[in-house]
Amino acid sequence: MDRVLVTGGAGYIGSHACKALARAGFEPVAFDNLSTGWREAVKFGPLVKGDLLDRAAIDAALSQYRPVAVMHFAALSLVGESMKDPGKYWRVNVDGALNLVEATVAAGIRDFVFSSTCATYGDQDGVVLTEETPQYPINAYGGSKRAIENIVTDFGAAFGLNHVIFRYFNVAGADPEGDLGEQHVPETHLIPLMLDAVAGRRPALTVFGSDYPTRDGTCLRDYVHVSDLVDAHVLGLKWLLDGRGSRVFNLGTGTGFTVREVIEASRAVTNREVPVVEGPRRPGDAVALVSGSARAIEELGWAPKRSTLRQMIGDAWGWASRPGYGG
Ligand code: UDP
Repeated sequence: MDRVLVTGGAGYIGSHACKALARAGFEPVAFDNLSTGWREAVKFGPLVKGDLLDRAAIDAALSQYRPVAVMHFAALSLVGESMKDPGKYWRVNVDGALNLVEATVAAGIRDFVFSSTCATYGDQDGVVLTEETPQYPINAYGGSKRAIENIVTDFGAAFGLNHVIFRYFNVAGADPEGDLGEQHVPETHLIPLMLDAVAGRRPALTVFGSDYPTRDGTCLRDYVHVSDLVDAHVLGLKWLLDGRGSRVFNLGTGTGFTVREVIEASRAVTNREVPVVEGPRRPGDAVALVSGSARAIEELGWAPKRSTLRQMIGDAWGWASRPGYGG
């Protein structure tokens, strides 16, 4: 069975990717330092506990498992934290990715899938963001991801590293079969925080800013279901293995929802009120991030199935109602 090295395979998106890869007939090998990931989320192949800042550990994993391709999810990914501690983001994300890309090329592996982000586009005043939109990140998280895009592209030009770069919009939801879900410590993302407040596990959700130039004053985001997102990764892997060359794809639905609209949808799904308090803007937040997603649909044949707001909140609510990892 062909193996794929999945960095961050114990994390939220990486663990769902491992499930999708296993279902598609690959053996996912999770490479994760377990700093934010969960051992229990690695269910579909072996776990290598290792750190991307340790080049020897990457080399050892590649020579032991001899994967046909690498999928790189492992990263620090919090906009707010990246504004407070940019050095950590540049060091961990960029140095780690550079080690991984160099090790991948040295091992003779030609196909590389990279998790990038809509945060590389920055704040572009209501523009629908396509893959051709210039990138002007406004936070260190987005800056570090754009730098990695450049690294991957340069290694493509110099060494023939074929790559698919996915720019994610806001990933949400959980595995519909209940095997996996979103669990961060501390949690910072809107939907899990909101559902924690609904369940009484925290007093209230704070809305970060209600004076943005949007239809109700709160930030607009394009939410995409994690299961749909990882399906696109399997398509991206096959694209590379079929020799179709390097390409960038946005992954979002093309529809934006405000924070208040997400809260409204939660009421409809859970039949419970969301305790809400209004707070100041969070530094680093763009006003609106909405994907132009035609390319992934037309070229990759991506067909999102669960990315309605109700379905994403419903699946996240299903996960929030389970004991979760470590409990
Ligand atoms: N948000 C919020 N309160 C929270 C967490 C997030 O109002 O406690 C807002 C945040 O300002 C952004 C949106 O919800 O507009 C999505 O934020 P999240 O952190 O989930 O994802 P990001 O867009 O940073 O990747």
